[in-house]
Amino acid sequence: MTTLTITDLHASIGGKKILNGINLTVSSGEVHAVMGPNGAGKSTLSAVVMGKPGYKVTAGSVFLDDIDLLALPTWQRAQAGLHLVMQYPTEVPGVAVVDVMTEAFKARGRTTDDVAQMLRTESARIDFDEAFLERSLNVDLSGGEKKRNETLQLAMLRPRIAILDELDSGLDIDALRDCARRVEDATNQDGLGALVITHYSRLLEELKPDVVHILVKGRIVESGGPELVDVLERDGYAAFESAVPDDEPSALDDLFAGPGTLR
Ligand code: ADP
Ligand code: MG
Repeated sequence: MTTLTITDLHASIGGKKILNGINLTVSSGEVHAVMGPNGAGKSTLSAVVMGKPGYKVTAGSVFLDDIDLLALPTWQRAQAGLHLVMQYPTEVPGVAVVDVMTEAFKARGRTTDDVAQMLRTESARIDFDEAFLERSLNVDLSGGEKKRNETLQLAMLRPRIAILDELDSGLDIDALRDCARRVEDATNQDGLGALVITHYSRLLEELKPDVVHILVKGRIVESGGPELVDVLERDGYAAFESAVPDDEPSALDDLFAGPGTLR
């Protein structure tokens, strides 16, 4: 049993506050959906938890069980069992999926004897063309093929907790179903815990959330069961957005804030 615990997480980029106190707990086998409008801070949340450079964590903590993730570089977070499926997968010319997986297995102390066979089995499972296994990672792949590729890597690496940042963006319906089902299987069969970021309900028809959180202006304003998805589908985010005050004071404002300053 593994638990990702995000506590009162505040983060900024370029002096602009994006995350304003996120609290989230995801355990093995659970699916948590995070839904929110464009610019709410969903990708920022995934980037900060995974350790993408450029973000400044100004308060809060992120733990994987008792491991303080914010103290670790990204590769050590991955080795600890955290995995990120990126909204926009990176193209890596000259490096094939099979090479990436072989090195990742070595880094985790896993035998590489069965990498090739596993890749073939997993590719078939999500209808990913085996020809891409030997080609440069994500180069010249369609949106759907890239997301199948990302899903393939997730299946191979068997992380304990995965963050999926808009797995559904750039996907056609068939690819969406294949990828979402594979992740759903991992949660049921391997006990994967998943934090699924999306702003559409369609993904969640295959990848069934236990809890749905609504992220607006850098904070979670509502958490509930799957029925929240239907509320959003019907009413949109407007009611949730208007409940949050507009501009959080930015880091720049803080420079001018002092005793006696009216704010
Ligand atoms: P979402 O994924 O919910 O659409 P993001 O986390 O990508 O939102 O972005 C949240 C806010 O942070 C947006 O207003 C965006 O413009 C801003 N932002 C994201 N990255 C940067 C950056 N590198 N520099 C400045 N602002 C950024
Ligand atoms: Mg995003």
